Amino acid sequence: MKNVKFIFLFAFVIFLNSSSILFAEAALEFYYQQILEVRTDLATPTTPISIIRYNAEMAKEQYNFRINPTEGEKIIRSPTNKNVSYRVNRVKVKDEEQLLELMSAKGDESKLTNGQKGLLASYRYSSSAAAKERLKLSDRKVIKTVLSDTTGFEDSSKYPNLERDFWPMSLGKSFQLSSKYFDSPDFESIAKSNLIHELSHTLDKNLPMGFAEEAITNFFKDGTFVYGKDGMHSYGDITTPRVAFMEGWSWFNQMIEFRKDRDLVFSSIKTLSKENPKTGDITYYSATDSAILGSDLLNCEGVNAKILYRLANEVANGRDKVNKAFLASNSKNHTFRSFIKKFIEQNLGDLERVRKILDEETHGKLSRDELNDLLRYTPPVVPGPVALPPTTEVPQPPTQTTSPTTTPTACPTAVPTSVPAESRVIQNHSEQRSPEELLPGYIDAD
Ligand SMILES: [Zn+2]
Repeated sequence: MKNVKFIFLFAFVIFLNSSSILFAEAALEFYYQQILEVRTDLATPTTPISIIRYNAEMAKEQYNFRINPTEGEKIIRSPTNKNVSYRVNRVKVKDEEQLLELMSAKGDESKLTNGQKGLLASYRYSSSAAAKERLKLSDRKVIKTVLSDTTGFEDSSKYPNLERDFWPMSLGKSFQLSSKYFDSPDFESIAKSNLIHELSHTLDKNLPMGFAEEAITNFFKDGTFVYGKDGMHSYGDITTPRVAFMEGWSWFNQMIEFRKDRDLVFSSIKTLSKENPKTGDITYYSATDSAILGSDLLNCEGVNAKILYRLANEVANGRDKVNKAFLASNSKNHTFRSFIKKFIEQNLGDLERVRKILDEETHGKLSRDELNDLLRYTPPVVPGPVALPPTTEVPQPPTQTTSPTTTPTACPTAVPTSVPAESRVIQNHSEQRSPEELLPGYIDAD
């Protein structure tokens, strides 16, 4: 029945998305969503018909919450607990004054909780040069953004499902932020980073269909979805090429804007983690451990992020080149491999610099053939591989056993498995502009 549930939800969300509305121009469109009530009295569906009905209703609610939010009072079932539901009210935000009024703090921001201050900070940061730069890269007409105010329901002992049910995440055409996630004295920094992370996800065509394919493949292979058995991910997790690049891209954008995020990723990927898909047990390794292959490193989101960061900073006009290659290689099969192929194709003169960065960030674990294969460039007029000079073989470090001492910091955008996997949606390509249309207007903020 679990399989039926997943397939049904996926198909239902695709169907619902087919009626998307066309919009005139790209913009962030904010919705303030206040939780009014948390109920725990939903009956557990037991019969096949009640299970199908339950899943259909939840898919519809999640679509209306996570993908195409609309105004008004709504019910949102918990994807993590069949007995829990939330009654919420959603209002389209016209300006900051209205947002403060909705949070009962008009004229006096001191009335706001830390979580609400985080919502306000993310709203304000959406007008920053950093946010506008990403919006210029977007081929969407509008990106809907839900600001969930969980005030009054933030006690995890009373509402254990709430944090995951309102976890910040993007499904491609929209994203959601949550006051529960910002409930910290460091709310402003967290809110700004989180806004850039989720906004960057909306640029990636991996979302939603590539992500959904990944979830389906994993589900039938080992019963997991995208981020493994625990449904969460972190900088040093070894996942899959598509997931690693998708998250790496968002981390890269954070690293470009915030030094603390850059430092965090740089230090975190010294230790990598592998999850056993059957048991969920996680084993930690030094990145230089001989048990970690070069391909493992390329399947790590933090490593992907760092390579992008180094390309942006060590190649001439690197930032612009990374963005252009990202857009030109963008697809539901977007991976580091497809990105770097496009990067080399567009910037053949940088090949040796790129080779050096890749060799260093994979600790010399990629063989010459693997590196050549990754960097292979086929000229458009005269097909054929470009002859590459041999790579410098770097001796592998001695074999180590697992490292139990380092636990990666929880990723601020780690996603509960059940929500995204059950909420994917086909992108409406009629809403989009081509990279060729976008690039002439792209301006590097540096
Ligand atoms: Zn993410």
